[in-house]
Amino acid sequence: MLALNATNLLTAWEQGIAQHPLQRAVTLLALAWPEKTTDEWAGVSIGERDRGLLQLRETLFGAKFEAIASCPKCSERLELTFSTQDLLARGATTASEPLRLTSGGYEVDYRVPTTDDLLAVAGNPGQARELLMERCVEARNDGVAVSASTLPDEVVRLLGQKMADADPQAEVQILLTCPACSHHWPTVFDILSYLWGEIEDWAQRLLQDVHSLASAYGWSERDILSMSATRRRLYLEMVGA
Ligand SMILES: [Zn+2]
Repeated sequence: MLALNATNLLTAWEQGIAQHPLQRAVTLLALAWPEKTTDEWAGVSIGERDRGLLQLRETLFGAKFEAIASCPKCSERLELTFSTQDLLARGATTASEPLRLTSGGYEVDYRVPTTDDLLAVAGNPGQARELLMERCVEARNDGVAVSASTLPDEVVRLLGQKMADADPQAEVQILLTCPACSHHWPTVFDILSYLWGEIEDWAQRLLQDVHSLASAYGWSERDILSMSATRRRLYLEMVGA
């Protein structure tokens, strides 16, 4: 992994502001692992993307996560803490090769979705599922090619299940228990929106720090950003910011 620094992370954040959230993931991953281009990162499975984002998040902000939830049954507020390990699907790897499903006279070759696929259907949320199927699935009925949109519901359901099984890191669920009423429920954890929120907070604080130090000492933004975080903090304490 590249040694990330304040300057290039701030630049990635600035780029990301104008981007679709799915593109932000690719921007961050290509910054952290430049051995893959942004196009290559957009072509990896969502599970592989999210394993990368989890690793990046641990490097930037540590392994501990904090979040707030409210019980759907009694509205009790829950303060959650969990770790990177809790979010890694155990032993999970993504099936990168095309897979095959045979059901009810249908033979279906399919692969798991990538960021490219999600971006391609993002403008059409009402039909996202059908469009995603068309991109990731090649189906035949009795040897004759058929459109994915004509597949019976049962085959589509099976395919959805098989795709999820083939890329278990793509959707992480956390099981929550309400301390007040003991209700249990699963919630989906999205590392991309969580990490982006943290980077936004970090960038705002950093720019505030640059402003304080530049005002006090007349240093340039470049000089301030190239300092270690420890040094910046010590100078900030000296100027009482
Ligand atoms: Zn409750």
